[in-house]
Amino acid sequence: MELRAPRGTSDIFSRQAGLRRHLEETAVELFGWYGYHPITTPIFERTELFTRSIGESTDIVQKEMYTFRDKSGRSLTLRPEGTAPVVRAFLEHKLVSQPLPIKLYYSGPMFRYERPQAGRSREFWQLGVEAIGSMNPAIDAETVSLMMHYLETLGLRDLELLLNSMGCSRCCPSFVKVLRAYLEEHQANLCTDCKRRVQLNPLRIFDCKKERCRGLLKEAPLITDYLCVDCKAHFAEVQSLLMSVGVEFKLEPSLVRGFDYYTKTAFEVRSPHLGAQNALGGGGRYDGLIEEFGGPPTPAIGFALGVERVILALHREGIDLPGDSTLDVFLAVVGKESKPEGFKLLDKLRKLGIATDMDYGDRSLKAQMKLADRMGALYTLFVGSEELEKGMCKIRDMKSGEQVEVAFEKIPRWLKKQIGSRKGKK
Ligand SMILES: [Zn+2]
Ligand SMILES: [Zn+2]
Repeated sequence: MELRAPRGTSDIFSRQAGLRRHLEETAVELFGWYGYHPITTPIFERTELFTRSIGESTDIVQKEMYTFRDKSGRSLTLRPEGTAPVVRAFLEHKLVSQPLPIKLYYSGPMFRYERPQAGRSREFWQLGVEAIGSMNPAIDAETVSLMMHYLETLGLRDLELLLNSMGCSRCCPSFVKVLRAYLEEHQANLCTDCKRRVQLNPLRIFDCKKERCRGLLKEAPLITDYLCVDCKAHFAEVQSLLMSVGVEFKLEPSLVRGFDYYTKTAFEVRSPHLGAQNALGGGGRYDGLIEEFGGPPTPAIGFALGVERVILALHREGIDLPGDSTLDVFLAVVGKESKPEGFKLLDKLRKLGIATDMDYGDRSLKAQMKLADRMGALYTLFVGSEELEKGMCKIRDMKSGEQVEVAFEKIPRWLKKQIGSRKGKK
């Protein structure tokens, strides 16, 4: 048996794990300021949930889902995205009877069978929000601006925000008709996938990466020329609200995102540092989805960010983030007979919230010092029989090398104060 994680998956530990936690903690705090509450949904759902919401014609449903039968023969799918499960939960728990909009955020792994490459894996993490129950353009502007605020809070500077409107169930079909007619005229130049897309859903051609299809789309009709009066007014207000809070964006009429459920506002944020997989995330309105699942007509909007891509962008922009948790104190035991006292002190410091560790291998003092260094301890505290007799312990500042003697009973307070002021300065 080969002991290796499956292709397109990875183990997350040490610095990567710390970074991920930092992203999550920042999200928890910031999303809370915008009135969001957490939700966790299952990793797998009934397959139908995704085929019906994401759309039969999308790449996700056609090629990328991890679908399997359980022992009772039910068709289940590892979630490829987070919106459909949240909508399912919203309906199942009758959250529609609560004051709307209801604002929910999630964080967790998603699964898509794609070709792994930089910034794309088969198991990937997403951080997302869904605001359900408001048609107001202010919710669109707020959602987009929250996404940008979050990325900027992490330190990202080089971001490009693209904005489009997908129209509604009244105006989008007339655009699709015109687009289909145009594509049928140029059928011969389309790739095999796109030939099929023309009939299933011509909008999906915008997802095609092939040069010849992209070339054709440059001359294609634009959705924004076909918006109804209502969609036009909505889109104009979203734009003016975004400008009023200083969010810069670029209009991109070919932005459709890879889901069938989007209506009206669609958006995507990109980083120029990521190469081919340059989208950090995006989202849009999905005003028809809840009704599609048998709920009352309920407008909604959301976004999702790719956690690995955000981390990659931070790295490429050279932004240093707090990674793994740090060790405050290494407790060096000088001589075996001092171990019981050392262990008691270790316990006391930890219970005071000071991150403390020691050697568990009865190593020499020299080896313990090496270990303290490798663990990145801020201070090393020496506990030996001589120290215990005197009632004074040596404490070394590992950065400056300076050493001080502190009375045994004053050690916890002394350390707490020093570490507090060091962390405050950071
Ligand atoms: Zn419309
Ligand atoms: Zn194509």
